[in-house]
Amino acid sequence: MYPTDKIENWFDGKGHWGQVSDENWFDWKWQMRNRLTKKNDFLEYLQLTDSEIQGFDIAKSKLSVAVTPYFFNLIDPNNPNCPVRKQVLPTASESNISIKELNDPVGEEKYMPVPGIVHRYPDRVLFLVTDRCASYCRYCTRSRLVSNAQDYGFHAELENSLSYIEKNTSIRDVLLSGGDPFILSDDKIEYILNRLNKIDHVEFIRIGSRIPVFMPQRITSRLLDVFSKIKNLWISIHVNHPSECTKELSIACSKLTSCGIPLGNQSVLLKEINDDTETMKSLVHRLLMMKVKPYYLYQCDLIKGSSHLRTDPSVGLKIIQELRGFTSGYAIPQFVIDAPGGGGKIPLNPDYIVDIKKDKILLKNYQGNIFDYPTSKDVAKQNISFIQ
Ligand SMILES: *Cc1c(COP(=O)(O)O)cnc(C)c1O
Ligand code: SF4
Repeated sequence: MYPTDKIENWFDGKGHWGQVSDENWFDWKWQMRNRLTKKNDFLEYLQLTDSEIQGFDIAKSKLSVAVTPYFFNLIDPNNPNCPVRKQVLPTASESNISIKELNDPVGEEKYMPVPGIVHRYPDRVLFLVTDRCASYCRYCTRSRLVSNAQDYGFHAELENSLSYIEKNTSIRDVLLSGGDPFILSDDKIEYILNRLNKIDHVEFIRIGSRIPVFMPQRITSRLLDVFSKIKNLWISIHVNHPSECTKELSIACSKLTSCGIPLGNQSVLLKEINDDTETMKSLVHRLLMMKVKPYYLYQCDLIKGSSHLRTDPSVGLKIIQELRGFTSGYAIPQFVIDAPGGGGKIPLNPDYIVDIKKDKILLKNYQGNIFDYPTSKDVAKQNISFIQ
């Protein structure tokens, strides 16, 4: 274990905003009002690189820039390659469009029966409830609509979406996303969750949100009250780097788990941000300490202008292989590629099968040692000889 993995060593406090009252700092609306959005807001605390300065111009028509004061504190001002900085500060590289990159990289538009509902799988839907977030990730899969910098003009059609779910009795799982659902008011979140909670065939409700990570102040007692009345609610957060695990985040997570909500994490594998085993191991260990199960590790989608953040798929496979066996099984996320064009999430796993023969299967363990396990054909033969 790295010494910094201990919770008592995680970042805590107000950082650059030491003078701000507790009342303001712990008020999520204050965090929203005081987000850093313009070049000059950042220049007060950081020396921007030329590439970042150009990035601000590109962002205007691509994906807005916003960073909450809370999250900004996690940027190391002395490190232009800071892994937190690279997730939220735009750079000139965003104007490099590779040939395979798309506006809608995972083909969501063609599976939208109602604006805001993506119905790709037989039993579950993705329900986009807003196009806004607390901060914006430069590699966002939904850059086409999120923040509205590209004039997509997304408007959640809540009533239409809810009645689509009500009418389709095959939908047993609803995943709220966006944008970030926690950007909505308490009343709106309560309304949506209560409506879903009343639908007989909906047995599993989940929310995907990066707000606990960008703004843990949002997890208020009023919101927890709303959550505690929902029969089966799960939440997926989105942490990419160990330094995003702070005392504040751990408090927000423990409020959620105390209220009976299972937590998962979805990370995106990002070049020179979290693309090595040591960083990933530290991240997954910290997640477990917060009772968060690492759920998915995503290959970065082919979103336009993201090639500078993308790794080769072999990097993800290598990381998973270097985790399996060397740490708790609970700590290991499933590495997936969301198929370009709309095939859904496809799991990628290191190969532990060396060969499949008629009577046995040859397996390789995490140390590379070979074992064989009899196939059922062979087992049947053995049983017969035992009976005789
Ligand atoms: C990711 C996703 C889901 C949920 O997939 P799980 O593998 O069940 O987590 C559902 N619908 C769409 C369109 C998705 O992209
Ligand atoms: S929080 Fe999620 S939806 Fe919002 S910008 Fe980041 S990845 Fe995109």
